[in-house]
Amino acid sequence: MGYVLSRDSFTRVLKKIGQSRRIYAPVNKVGEGRFTDVDVVRYDFVTEAPEIELDKKSDYAFKEILTPLSQTLFFFTEDEVKEADMDEREVIIFLRSCDLHAVKRLDAIYLENKFVDPFYKRIRDKVRFALIGCGRSYEDCFCVSMGTNRADGGYLFSVDMIGGKYYFDVKDDELAAIFASEAESEQAVEARYVTENEVKVTIPGNVPVSVYKDPLWEEYTVRCINCGRCNFVCPTCTCFTMQDIFYTDNGRVGERRRVGASCMVDGYTNVAGGGQYRRTNGERMRFKVLHKIHDFRKRFGFDMCVGCGRCDMVCPEYISYANIINKVNDAVEGGAVNG
Ligand code: SF4
Ligand code: SF4
Repeated sequence: MGYVLSRDSFTRVLKKIGQSRRIYAPVNKVGEGRFTDVDVVRYDFVTEAPEIELDKKSDYAFKEILTPLSQTLFFFTEDEVKEADMDEREVIIFLRSCDLHAVKRLDAIYLENKFVDPFYKRIRDKVRFALIGCGRSYEDCFCVSMGTNRADGGYLFSVDMIGGKYYFDVKDDELAAIFASEAESEQAVEARYVTENEVKVTIPGNVPVSVYKDPLWEEYTVRCINCGRCNFVCPTCTCFTMQDIFYTDNGRVGERRRVGASCMVDGYTNVAGGGQYRRTNGERMRFKVLHKIHDFRKRFGFDMCVGCGRCDMVCPEYISYANIINKVNDAVEGGAVNG
């Protein structure tokens, strides 16, 4: 069912939906970017239509709802453990097609990777999605190459803003009644999606061991400063570490937290006895890239990367992950690796 709404009527819909749910969407944070007078688009809770940034691509992904940067899992005392409480309300996340495909990757890692992660599942069970249509391709996107440019389902409704009006394709019957009560008109609506990006990548098939040892990775030992930004903006990076916070000197009362981690940061692969599996930034880059476009596929049957291009946008050293994918493909095919 398709509906056309004004900005004010969309706000009224959000207020009705928000009576029993939290709504999480990309928001343009004016002046809160990395440099003076630079904006950043990151996720936040919203209550009104103008708060939702539908035109720009978000610099950060939606994933902090599903995988919080710092999540208290449970509290412990000397003889008992209590799971942390959580907000039981449903959450609706506004996201684009690539990010909706990223949810499939998060689900694979946390729900289908031999075990079900209960701390992820209890949040995931509360989350639904609203699809933001893409009227154009953005800088650094390569969703078409990754096959994530279009979402065929898995969302409650889609939204496109065209000429100051909001166009919705509503899949959910309960929400359709709310949209219908505020709609200026009803008509067939289809979420927009892109069919071409400026950036194109070719995903290699099977990557031989020789490519793991190829000198192409050495460039990143020099260029990458292992800041980890590429991991923290990525909608599919899921690495975490554990922290026990002790309330008492004897270490028997406190809480356990799951905290976001980065495979590009020094110390990530430290093990007992002073060992470190990946010492150079080139080795770390090799691990990250091949996990995203090769190793994950061997386990789950599809690539981890969804081509959102955020890692290229955020890298302070202008390292292009899309270029690296194409270099790997050249190396696999036996061609030149420079460029
Ligand atoms: S954002 Fe760039 S410099 Fe920082 S870890 Fe990632 S690739 Fe390296
Ligand atoms: S690796 Fe880069 S392009 Fe791929 S999903 Fe992560 S942030 Fe997006």
